Amino acid sequence: MHHYIPYAQQWVDEEDIQEVLETLKSDYLTTGPKINAFEDKLKEAAGAKYAVAVANGTAALHAACFAAGIGEEDEVITTPMTFAASANCALYMGARPIFADIDPRTYNIDPKDIESKITRKTKAIIPVHFTGQPCDMDLILKLARDNGLAVIEDGAHALGAEYKGRKIGSIGDMTTFSFHPVKHITTGEGGAVTTNSEALYNKLMMFRTHGITRDSKQLLKNEGPWYYEQHFLGYNYRMTDIQAALGIKQLEKLPLFLQKRRAYVEKYNKAFSNIEELIIPYQLEAVKSSWHLYIIQLKLDKLNIGRRDVFEALRQKNIGVNVHYIPVYDHPYYRKLGYRQGQCPNAEKLYAGIITLPLFPKMKEEEADYVIESLLEVIENGKSVPVVER
Ligand SMILES: *Cc1c(COP(=O)(O)O)cnc(C)c1O
Repeated sequence: MHHYIPYAQQWVDEEDIQEVLETLKSDYLTTGPKINAFEDKLKEAAGAKYAVAVANGTAALHAACFAAGIGEEDEVITTPMTFAASANCALYMGARPIFADIDPRTYNIDPKDIESKITRKTKAIIPVHFTGQPCDMDLILKLARDNGLAVIEDGAHALGAEYKGRKIGSIGDMTTFSFHPVKHITTGEGGAVTTNSEALYNKLMMFRTHGITRDSKQLLKNEGPWYYEQHFLGYNYRMTDIQAALGIKQLEKLPLFLQKRRAYVEKYNKAFSNIEELIIPYQLEAVKSSWHLYIIQLKLDKLNIGRRDVFEALRQKNIGVNVHYIPVYDHPYYRKLGYRQGQCPNAEKLYAGIITLPLFPKMKEEEADYVIESLLEVIENGKSVPVVER
C-alpha cells in the first residue's frame, strides 16, 4: 500500500524552526518586532501599502467587514463556492450574506450575477479568488464604484496570484489572507488584511486590539505617557511573534512554493487534458493563479460510477482527496437562516462533480505520479460502455 498523501500540507524546514526558537528566547513573544517585520514582508508579497497581521484568516475577514462599516440591515454579496468564513464574517456584523452564482468555467463569482443581486441594502462585495485564480476584478470594481460598495477580497487561496499584472492584495479596498497550514505559507494559525488606505489601516489596527489606540494623533485627550483609549468594541485578534517569526521565513520561500505548485498543476493538466471523462481547471489569459487547490471535475454523464465512488476509490488508495466546497448555504445553519437550495444552480452543479486532488509544494514527483495513475485507473474502470444497438 502506498503511504498516505494528504490533499495539502505545510513545508516547515530547519531555518523556520531556528527562527521560531530564537523568538522564543527573545524578549517578546507577542506585540514585538517580528510582527512588524512579517507585515513589511507581506506588504511586499501582496503589493500593498499596509498589512495588519491577525490571529487567523477568519479574524481578517471579520476585521475587514468592521473596517468597511458593515452593519445590521446591510447585505454583503459573496460566492457560495467557498469556505463558510467568507459569508460568516457578514453574519458577525449582523449583516445578511447574499449569494451570487459562479461562472461555470472559472468557478469564480460571476459579476453579472453580482449585478442582479445588488439592492439598496448592499454594502460590500466579498469576491473569493477560488483555488487561487483571481476573479474578474475590473468588472467587480466597476460594479462597486457605480453602486458605492466596498470590495473585500478573500485572498485565502491567492497569496502570490496576479490579476492583469497586479498582485492580489493591492486591488480592492482590502484583501484578507490565511496562513493555516494548508495555505501557501503558514504561521500555524494566522491571517492578515492588506490595504492601500491609511484610514482603513488605522481601523484594522485598533480592531485587532480591543478598539484601543495609543496613537497621540487619535487620542481625544492625553492624561500622560501611560494613557490609551478604547474607541469602539474590538477583539484580541493579535498574532504572536512566534507565529510571525515562522511567517517571515515562510514568506522567503513563497516564490519556490508557487513554482512547485505550478509545476505540479502542469503535470496534472498534461495527464488529464485528453481524458474525456474529466474537466481540468480552466484558466483565464489575463491572470496568474497561485494554485491553492487542484480541482478535477467529473463528467458524470460519461461515467458508470458517481463522484462518491471515485472519491472512495481514491481514499482506498490512500490518497487524501477532498471536496471544495459544499455550497455555503447548504449548511444546516444557513438553512435555519432561511437560505434554500436552488439559488445558485451553477455552484450546485459544480459541487456534484468535483474532487480536490493533492497539491502542495512538499509533494514528491513520485506522489504526483501515483495520484495520476490512480485517478486514471479509477476512471478507466468507471467508463460507461456505449450501448450497442442491434
Ligand atoms: C482558509 C480559508 C479561510 C479562513 O481562514 P482561517 O485562517 O482558517 O480562519 C477563509 N476563506 C477561505 C476561502 C479559506 O480557504
